[in-house]
Amino acid sequence: MAQVKLTDTTLRDAHQSLIATRMRTRDMLPIAEKMDEVGFFSLEVWGGATFDSSIRYLNEDPWERLRALKKAIKKTPLQMLLRGQNLVGYRHYSDDIVIKFVEHAAKTGVDIFRIFDAVNDIRNMEVSIKAAKHAGAHVQGTVCYTISPVHPIPLYVKMAKELEKMGCDSLCIKDMAGLISPRNAYDLVKALKKEISIPVDLHSHCTSGMAPMSYLFACEAGVNILDTAFSPFAWGTSQPPTETTVAALKGTPYDTGLDLFLLTEIKKYFEDIKEKYRGILDPISERIDTNVLKYQIPGGMLSNLVSQLKEQNALDKYNDVLAEMPRVREELGYPPLVTPTSQIVGTQAVLNVLMGERYKVVPKEVKDYVKGLYGRTPAPISKEIITKILGNEQPITCRPADLLPPELDKVTKEAYALGIVKKPEDILTYALYPAIAPKFLRGEAKEEALEVPKPNNVRAASALPSEFKVEVDGDVFDVKIISAGGGSVAAKEMAERPKAVDGAVTASMQGMVLKVKVKKGDSVAKGDVVMVLEAMKMENNIHAPHAGAVKEILVKEGSTVSAGDTLLIIG
Ligand code: MN
Repeated sequence: MAQVKLTDTTLRDAHQSLIATRMRTRDMLPIAEKMDEVGFFSLEVWGGATFDSSIRYLNEDPWERLRALKKAIKKTPLQMLLRGQNLVGYRHYSDDIVIKFVEHAAKTGVDIFRIFDAVNDIRNMEVSIKAAKHAGAHVQGTVCYTISPVHPIPLYVKMAKELEKMGCDSLCIKDMAGLISPRNAYDLVKALKKEISIPVDLHSHCTSGMAPMSYLFACEAGVNILDTAFSPFAWGTSQPPTETTVAALKGTPYDTGLDLFLLTEIKKYFEDIKEKYRGILDPISERIDTNVLKYQIPGGMLSNLVSQLKEQNALDKYNDVLAEMPRVREELGYPPLVTPTSQIVGTQAVLNVLMGERYKVVPKEVKDYVKGLYGRTPAPISKEIITKILGNEQPITCRPADLLPPELDKVTKEAYALGIVKKPEDILTYALYPAIAPKFLRGEAKEEALEVPKPNNVRAASALPSEFKVEVDGDVFDVKIISAGGGSVAAKEMAERPKAVDGAVTASMQGMVLKVKVKKGDSVAKGDVVMVLEAMKMENNIHAPHAGAVKEILVKEGSTVSAGDTLLIIG
């Protein structure tokens, strides 16, 4: 029986799961060399949401972070999490961007690429796997673990064998929701070890509380690598603790051989770091969430659901939505619930309940998903649902990125035209985040202030938070709440808006006006898209209910609206 190795996730997944991906590079560097001494299989330090968070909130260049860590960590391979064709963003990028990004990440310091796809469609992973192999990196092919009638063990084994054939150097079972039970971990690892010869890594979260036990069973089945985090950043929605795992396996055939004294020194450092971030540590993410076992809906998704309902003033519909969620997931072909499919299923379930009619409102992302633009769904979607959502349009059958023309030349020109390119990698930053990168690259972004911890971590009852973070399977979304009676600008703006006028087109839900597609005086046909409303992180088209001329537009791009607010008047 071979020794078990550990991948430490403290500098990526752990702080993404517990403190909204806010750990600064300056809090990582002082301990980096010591972490390098431990003898981990790898240190997961980059990718996932860290790229987005660095430029959006921390005014930090993610490439510089990678460079600095590489300089300090000389022996241990650095690992990143890559969302296949989505890279570290939320949409599919064209192949030329994917190749360039992977090449540059490898050159800058990533030794191990953990590559996954939300619906386990290998076609979405091919290009990045090839690019990482080409760059000489270690590729960890990943299967996203979920529970459904169409996810039996042989399916994962089949996918793992394909990944091995494509040249992957190891395989990761990515249990992003902490769903895997000790029994299932044992059976799955055992089956994989029988059929593939590359090392197997189990990545789980403590969300349901089972992960440490599942890790032990995985050891018994022959797992090679386990993902853990230093105890101050472990448990809850994060990984099982590194020190505990090392101590638990001591003297067994799976002994990691790591030095507990050295680990304890590092742990002390992270205890202080945790105190620094106490103010943004959401007590929900530290809790064990057994709902995940009952509904098989990850904890982060449940808290996201609560906030969506709060936002729409419909918290009383919580149980209805809870019942609707598995129904939608089944109808959409049982996708694993991970970014972005968790958002897609969750939001559609909320809309189905709020609108009083199922699939009456379908956001763009859900349509794209049904169209096949996110990849092949685990189970086929019924004709009935396809017609309901797409009308006469037919889903695609090709690899989604085959439909994307090369983008690199175009974004390069755009970036130069904007005057934001100081170094070539700035083009990649801009290509991935065209909306927020320019401000950052111009040096106009500010580092978010650290929230001062409140006594007992309880938020002041008098004022509702205007903004809070919602974690969905380890990805953190910011939710802004506009309090109705708070006298905010938005509330005042709303009070002045006329309601229920003839020809008025009203908002069916709370959201933000993303695009106004018409001007005063334009004539529109019935069904024309006149506005795009962003609600619950999804884009919803607002159609003209009848033909006519646009008499008045009462909102502008960026306005926040409530359900029932008049958006425009078509006479
Ligand atoms: Mn994870």
